[in-house]
Amino acid sequence: MTQGRGKAVGSVGRRGLLVGAAATAAGAAGVVSLRAAGAATDADRTVAVDRKPVVMTWWGNHAWEIRCGKYVVLTDPWLTRFKTGTYTPAGADPATKVVSQPEVIDRYVSQADAILVHHGHYDHLPDVPYIARRTKATVLGNETHLNLLRALRAPADQLSQVSGGEYLPFDGFTIEVFRSVHSCGGKRHQFAYPGTRPGAVPPKPRTIADLVEGGTLAYVITIGGLRILSLSTAGFDPVSLRDLQVDVVLAAPGGEPGVTDRLLQTIKPVKTVIATHWDDFDQPLDKPAVDWGGLSKLRASVEATGSAFTVVDHLQSITL
Ligand SMILES: [Zn+2]
Repeated sequence: MTQGRGKAVGSVGRRGLLVGAAATAAGAAGVVSLRAAGAATDADRTVAVDRKPVVMTWWGNHAWEIRCGKYVVLTDPWLTRFKTGTYTPAGADPATKVVSQPEVIDRYVSQADAILVHHGHYDHLPDVPYIARRTKATVLGNETHLNLLRALRAPADQLSQVSGGEYLPFDGFTIEVFRSVHSCGGKRHQFAYPGTRPGAVPPKPRTIADLVEGGTLAYVITIGGLRILSLSTAGFDPVSLRDLQVDVVLAAPGGEPGVTDRLLQTIKPVKTVIATHWDDFDQPLDKPAVDWGGLSKLRASVEATGSAFTVVDHLQSITL
């Protein structure tokens, strides 16, 4: 889950993004459009490299299918929705049972080469074991994520432990792994179900409280010449992402005030930001997404930088 409903997001103000500094780093793969905050469009610089169409399909929450030709990467593929109360005033009921329903998953998931686990929470992890087994995909996650997956009977030989800093060339795409942090909020700056499960495999998780956050990772997926930064919550690590050059960011609403402004000041100017994790996942996936209340602030933060802000509805695709 993301920690939501913070106070007003601070303004990016006149703190523009430096076109000159960014342009020197524009040799990276992808189409890189650099834009100064509030500046005229003739400040743009575009570097075209070998690009192929990349189709991104949203399955709600932070579940994305990223496809280029025959290659498919999935982020936190969670399709079995169960009522948790996460976005109600009472919040999620920690005794909610974790279930995974193959008949729901099979409606949407056909193929995957890699599954990127960003953190261990109930709205990210529980369908990964079934999807991994069905697709034979390689599953990336940290020690806790993989231990939770082992406890959920994921196929052990497909699990690849990462911690941030890895550069992993796959057939058809590359994955870079970055340290990250979960978003937090409220007076005590907390998030749900903190904790780790290092060492021995824990007992099988039965309730959503058993699926601890376990540390958070971010990923850059380079596919079809496009570089996509995937963030599963509003949180990020400013040291790891400093001056990162990407074409697309998957950015979640919520978190501490101003967090998205700080993210977009930390990385190089980015052409497109796509909203992720913005829907109330107690609502059905086969109906239009219901905003839990964070989308307008996210939009304001993104548009203040001059980046394009894109919202995709449930089960819809965007081709980049
Ligand atoms: Zn979470």
